[in-house]
Amino acid sequence: MSMASFEAFACDACKGLFARPQSACRRCGTPIVLPVNLSGRGTLTSFTTIRVPPTAFQGQEPYTVAVIDLDEGLRVTARLTVQEEREAAIGASAVFEEMRPYGPVFRLI
Ligand SMILES: [Zn+2]
Repeated sequence: MSMASFEAFACDACKGLFARPQSACRRCGTPIVLPVNLSGRGTLTSFTTIRVPPTAFQGQEPYTVAVIDLDEGLRVTARLTVQEEREAAIGASAVFEEMRPYGPVFRLI
């Protein structure tokens, strides 16, 4: 499976990174925030398996939501392709797989 690049947004002035489009940089206020492609590589920082989801996600349980620190320094919340907590471990390497309507999906490597 080839690795997908992860689209993020970078401030042209302070190089701050954001997961979502910004009308102005939240760090320095510069209005120039441009799309950038990150490697999609990161490290699993925390995760939890959802067994009782909110209404919008009912029927998808169980699923695992994780916080991943991308190599470039951006922290993102994403789903993991593993379903049970015991299959994941803090510090594991993860790569971006695809963007879904509910957000990014990563898999462990
Ligand atoms: Zn900035």
